[in-house]
Amino acid sequence: MENNKPEEKKKREKRDKILLGILITAIILTIGIVGYFLFFYETDETEENKLAYTDLIKQIADGEIERIEMTVGSTTVKVKQKNVEEEKVTIVPNTQAFVELVQEKVAEGNNIKLDQKPQNILVSISQTVFTLLPTLMIVALFVVVLKMQGLGDKGKIYDQDASKEKVKFDDVAGLDEEKQEMIEIVQFLKEPKKFNEMGAKIPRGVLLYGKPGTGKTLIAKAIAGEANVPFISMSGSEFIEMFAGLGASRVRKLFEKARKVAPCIVFIDEIDAIGSRRTSGNGAESENNQTLNQLLVEMDGFDTEETIIVLAATNRPEMLDKALLRPGRFDRQITINVPDKRGREEILKIHSKDKKIAENVKLKTIAEDTAGLTGAELANILNESAILATINEHEVIEKEDIEEAFKKVTIGLQKTSRVYSEKDKKLTAYHEAGHAVVSQYLETQEPVKEISIIPRGMAGGYTMNKTNEDKNYISKTEMEERLMVLMAGRAAEKIIINDISTGASNDFEVATKIAKDMVTIYGMSDVVGTISINVEKDPYELQLLGEKYADAIGAEVKILLDSAYQKAQKIILEHMDKLHEVAQTLLKQETINEQEFERIFE
Ligand code: ADP
Ligand code: ZN
Repeated sequence: MENNKPEEKKKREKRDKILLGILITAIILTIGIVGYFLFFYETDETEENKLAYTDLIKQIADGEIERIEMTVGSTTVKVKQKNVEEEKVTIVPNTQAFVELVQEKVAEGNNIKLDQKPQNILVSISQTVFTLLPTLMIVALFVVVLKMQGLGDKGKIYDQDASKEKVKFDDVAGLDEEKQEMIEIVQFLKEPKKFNEMGAKIPRGVLLYGKPGTGKTLIAKAIAGEANVPFISMSGSEFIEMFAGLGASRVRKLFEKARKVAPCIVFIDEIDAIGSRRTSGNGAESENNQTLNQLLVEMDGFDTEETIIVLAATNRPEMLDKALLRPGRFDRQITINVPDKRGREEILKIHSKDKKIAENVKLKTIAEDTAGLTGAELANILNESAILATINEHEVIEKEDIEEAFKKVTIGLQKTSRVYSEKDKKLTAYHEAGHAVVSQYLETQEPVKEISIIPRGMAGGYTMNKTNEDKNYISKTEMEERLMVLMAGRAAEKIIINDISTGASNDFEVATKIAKDMVTIYGMSDVVGTISINVEKDPYELQLLGEKYADAIGAEVKILLDSAYQKAQKIILEHMDKLHEVAQTLLKQETINEQEFERIFE
């Protein structure tokens, strides 16, 4: 904690500076506004005492004017006419020319008294300020923004000695193979000399590939924790700034800090934000390039003596600039996968350590039902279930709390409060029944676990299939049947109500993605052939292949979707009795569980 104090002080100083900036801006503004009004009030101009400029010129020529009073810097002049008590006010378009004109008349023998008064000091200051105001304000704003960006104090040093919770490898579940490589890095950090003497090159950069929440940050922290070195972190998106050059200077500062505390770990999250492939183009990109270049310069400039290991995380390795992957930079890459069944169980074990969980809750079962979830999501489920147990006034976390938390995390919050019409309800019931019934008649689809017409999050209802197996491969048949299940919702709506709703849009989105992947990534279309073109990765790849190819892909995707719809429709028509039974049960009780569903099909 000791180490935090100077940082705190710095922060306070920065805040004070910003407040001072705001204060000065406010004062300048006040002077400007007050002066502005003084200046105009002084002229006491009203409709009655106005004298048009042309009239004034004429009256001067006619010798009707007795006295003219001018103020330096002002276009408003006061005029005293002969035989008129009240003074008049005239706006003069060009004071210089006007003065010359009056002086000419005086020289000609016209008896005009011309008074030229110096400017009121306050007015003159305020006038200057007022003209400069826009510039001043822009400068002040600029300063404030710059300071604020510094205020977040990025690149915090997590001094491992100071923080009580040192992350260790024990806190990281699963990832056994990955850990092996991590242990090596820990060795480097602990005894850099030994490796140097042996002539072994110390790795400089390690890229961690993986979905968000798979534990990349956790593992980086654990490396620092095991090696007992400081952990300095920053997120790639923080480097992207609106001011050119700021990203690069931030990288420089980050590494300055790192050099001071080396040996240490520098962790850059979301490196794709700065390390995206360099393409010529707009300003934002060239800013990225500067930032990326600076990062490369820093990494290339590491001394062999300095032990700074840069760990960077990304979800989109294909986006990265190849320059990052060259030797001496991020030449090691580790893929962090979504945990498998055993990994999930271990993660659940770690995160349930400090929680009271009912005896009958089996972590193994939860692990079986949560295929595809990341470590972060699993941790989240356990945390949510503890909250729900507290709300439900349970002594310990019960099975139902965990089930509720699971739904909350995966589908979104239950929205029982939303009232919806009988027609909506019927539509939803038949839509979900469509998904469930079709899925039941397809070999490859997992059994239905739960159907509900209670809206959750964005979905009006949902049909959950069981997930009890971690699959490495999915067959073409399975994908085609999945498409049929997805299309079944809309098909049922059309058959029963002869109307269709917007409720199926998410189904179509998912279905289209699957169909597209089948054709373009998995080579499952005979027409398009065995080719892999990831359009999202590289849109140019498609252009390269030509228009005909793009058309063929589009046609194939459409065929897949259309035929899935036809087949789904056929299954529903063959089993209308089941569709009605499921939908009616849903309308009656809103949810159907696995056993109830099976009973309908017995
Ligand atoms: P990422 O950096 O990949 O987005 P994080 O490391 O931030 O993911 O993970 C978020 C949280 O999820 C961690 O703090 C931890 O609580 C949990 N978590 C993720 N993976 C694991 C794991 N393998 N073991 C234990 N906890 C994990
Ligand atoms: Zn649906």
